[in-house]
Amino acid sequence: MGAPIVPSAGLPPLGAHVSIAGGLHRAPERAARIGADALQLFTKAPQRWAERCVTEEEAAAFRAARETAGIRVAASHDSYLINLASPDPGLRVRSARAFRAELARCEILGLELLVTHPGNATGGDRDRALFQNAELVAEAMRAVPGKTRVLLETTAGSGRSLGCSFEEIAVLIDGLPSEARDRIGVCLDTAHVYAAGYDLRGEYDAVLGRFDQIVGLERLALIHCNDSAAALGSRRDRHAEIGKGKLGERVFESLMRDERLAQVPRVLEIPKGSDPAATDRRNLALLRRLARS
Ligand SMILES: [Zn+2]
Ligand SMILES: [Zn+2]
Repeated sequence: MGAPIVPSAGLPPLGAHVSIAGGLHRAPERAARIGADALQLFTKAPQRWAERCVTEEEAAAFRAARETAGIRVAASHDSYLINLASPDPGLRVRSARAFRAELARCEILGLELLVTHPGNATGGDRDRALFQNAELVAEAMRAVPGKTRVLLETTAGSGRSLGCSFEEIAVLIDGLPSEARDRIGVCLDTAHVYAAGYDLRGEYDAVLGRFDQIVGLERLALIHCNDSAAALGSRRDRHAEIGKGKLGERVFESLMRDERLAQVPRVLEIPKGSDPAATDRRNLALLRRLARS
């Protein structure tokens, strides 16, 4: 693995989505090995409904490992099955329960951030779906008080997924009661917004300006740094390594040098190939170089 990598001073927390194989407490060391001081993880198998509780012992082991690894910011990404906007009563109840359980695991682990995808308006009525989605996020926050900040992720807009426009993200935030609004933020995924039709490559400043105008940059709490294998406006969610997709290195150079975003942590969610650690390490090193060169 070579010499340990010391994350660069002066940069925001930088990391990747890492595996929890072997237990949650293994994630921080995996992050440290790729030179990260931020991480994102799943607190359970994301493609299954089965819930799990995190015990005090597991949480203590995770916190200790995190301390040792020097992880400044840790985020969870919620299950892909959750659809808080579903018109189907059964799926709605199941989703709400799963989201509450996710938030509870984040709290016990002491994670700063929980990234959630706005749901799918499968019934076709987007206004109703947005209203319900906001309501169920607020309900989970009431049921699980604490410090974990819930982040609405911008989506690519495939199918009927909500949150593919900054306006819809703003509607979701506005739909929350004020005490819940203090605990909400936004995760901007560069690949998703590009696929959703925001030309980060051609009009970086205009896109960021629009985000600021509609949502507010003060809400931006995490950036998913992903290049996009899918074209502008394609509404397809296909991530690529930094500089190897349609966005290209220049976009990430702008992002890494943007003083408005200087405090915003960022994580990679790129295809990892046959050697996940080497891929993430190489891409993180590239982001650092782009911040400096
Ligand atoms: Zn996501
Ligand atoms: Zn993402």
